[in-house]
Amino acid sequence: MIPRPPKGTDDILPPASDRWRVLLRAFDDLAERFGYGLVITPMFEATELFSRGVGAETEVVEKQMYTFEDKGGRSVTLRPEATASVVRAYLQGGSSAVFKVAYAGPMFRYEQPQAGRRRQFHQVGVEYIGEPSPDADVEVIEIGFRLLEAVGITDAVVLLNSIGDPADRAAYRELLAAFLTERAGELTADARRRIAANPLRVLDSKADAAVLADAPTPAGHLSPAAAGHIAAVRAGLDAMAIPHQEEPRLVRGLDYYNRTVFEYQSASYQAAQASLGGGGRYDPLAGMLGGPEVPGVGLAMGVDRIVLAMPAGDEEAVLDVFVVAADAGRRTIALELVRSLRAEGLRVDLDLGDKSVKAQFRAADRRRAATAAVVGEEWESGRVTMKDLRSGAESSVDAREVAKWIRRR
Ligand code: AMP
Repeated sequence: MIPRPPKGTDDILPPASDRWRVLLRAFDDLAERFGYGLVITPMFEATELFSRGVGAETEVVEKQMYTFEDKGGRSVTLRPEATASVVRAYLQGGSSAVFKVAYAGPMFRYEQPQAGRRRQFHQVGVEYIGEPSPDADVEVIEIGFRLLEAVGITDAVVLLNSIGDPADRAAYRELLAAFLTERAGELTADARRRIAANPLRVLDSKADAAVLADAPTPAGHLSPAAAGHIAAVRAGLDAMAIPHQEEPRLVRGLDYYNRTVFEYQSASYQAAQASLGGGGRYDPLAGMLGGPEVPGVGLAMGVDRIVLAMPAGDEEAVLDVFVVAADAGRRTIALELVRSLRAEGLRVDLDLGDKSVKAQFRAADRRRAATAAVVGEEWESGRVTMKDLRSGAESSVDAREVAKWIRRR
């Protein structure tokens, strides 16, 4: 028997992967247009990076990490997210004060798998390091919104909150812990256990929603500087007509955040785990890793979920043209035509076996070609027969004009 892939992992194959390609391209293009360089960091890191960066008491570090000892006896962890790695890399080698980078790749979390919640999942994200201005938050939030727009998700809403600066957060944490202790009798055992270690985590608990409805929220306890910051972020989003709404209980589970936190939701993706992406400001992170104080803000979009939420388009063609040789003697000419059309930037293929014309046309359909170019007798007079594979319409076209004909249709 062929071994199965591990639970919670997926093989992403054509035609399903066509959507992935659309999304990854759209992201790459956006990141480049907004001035983000490419960053690639290791897929595994010293475990300490995450326990210090993400926070030892967080859900991710406590329960979800793939941690193992390597043959040299070091504790390493498959990355559950990329921000800690990127900030580490910046501190150790980033050259400029303002550092804008984009990444794409798999992340690993030991979770109970379901649709949209995988053990290996993919994120695309950006990090804007070195800039304290709320305009950096706005730019990062805009990128996620534009990405969703670019792949056809036009009803996305940004859920927005501020968790304040570390001092605000510490004061709020105490307040929340006091509230939760007072209502401990009504909480689940899990929530009760978390009060001492990390009361903010209780806010994510759906089972405790009734009690949490009365809980104090971080937004009510912001310093004037933090309150001014989130107001500026809101104004920036308003100016661009990016829909956003206040989500007073949004705190996001990681320790490094301060001030702005956000997530994206869309009616096209309704699930228990509904967020298509999220991020926030993480000014404390560089210090938590042992570096100097460097502000930063970033975003991670969940590719697996966005792909599920993308509207079902027309079955799009993935080849512009499939070249058909009318007889085996014309294979060399067919290959030449393929090469010249590829050089012109078209998506082109042909069958490399000695198949009948009928079999080649079947292959063209299977491969989702928009048109077929038949190289036959008329080649002698410098022409090929072009066939629109959807309508079936045929026309004789000058062999030098094939690319132009395809682009014009
Ligand atoms: P997080 O790093 O938890 O803020 O996640 C950012 C985004 O990544 C989420 O909004 C999801 O879209 C996606 N994501 C997080 N965890 C998973 C998972 N286990 N499976 C699939 N997507 C995930």
